[in-house]
Amino acid sequence: MPKKLKKMNHWTPLFTQEEIQTRVKELGRELSRDFANKDVLALGVLKGACIFFSDLIRSIETPLTVDFFITSSYEKTKSSGNLKVHYEKQETAKDKNVLIIDDIVDTGLTLKLLREQILKENPRSVKICTLLDKKEKRKVEVEVDYVGFEIPDLFVVGYGLDYENKFRNLPFIAEFISKQ
Ligand code: 5GP
Repeated sequence: MPKKLKKMNHWTPLFTQEEIQTRVKELGRELSRDFANKDVLALGVLKGACIFFSDLIRSIETPLTVDFFITSSYEKTKSSGNLKVHYEKQETAKDKNVLIIDDIVDTGLTLKLLREQILKENPRSVKICTLLDKKEKRKVEVEVDYVGFEIPDLFVVGYGLDYENKFRNLPFIAEFISKQ
């Protein structure tokens, strides 16, 4: 673990690299079973899901196509409530079994909006997979089909998740406490 981070005492480890990898493989097995012989479009929600997405799709045995959305709604450690879509997927969802892969569900606003947008294209099905779920923070209802870990109301970084676009490359997940 980086010494500099330790000294700043800004974080408390939550999930180790090993725990994450074990859970990702379990999810991969479940998804391989559920999506066997289906035409799958895996949609990653960037930037936060970049690492989870890359690991997860390599654990899924079904052939699939990939595309991405780039969204943002967080300012520092809080949801602003305003979702910005910076990049929209290019692949059509029509007749596809869409699997949206996100890093974390908080208020639910991001996934609710993306799901509604995809449904307009008449996909065969839409399922959502998230690594982390902060259920108690939900503001809008959204059906999440696959969850890596449920967590309490903490601000977390690592394994793709950021604080001001930093810490995404930590191989573990930690609670981040901003001194500002
Ligand atoms: P929602 O729209 O559900 O409120 O927020 C979803 C997005 O907010 C996530 O994809 C993620 O980018 C960001 N987010 C929510 N909670 C956290 C957190 O604890 N840490 C970080 N780094 N980002 C978060």
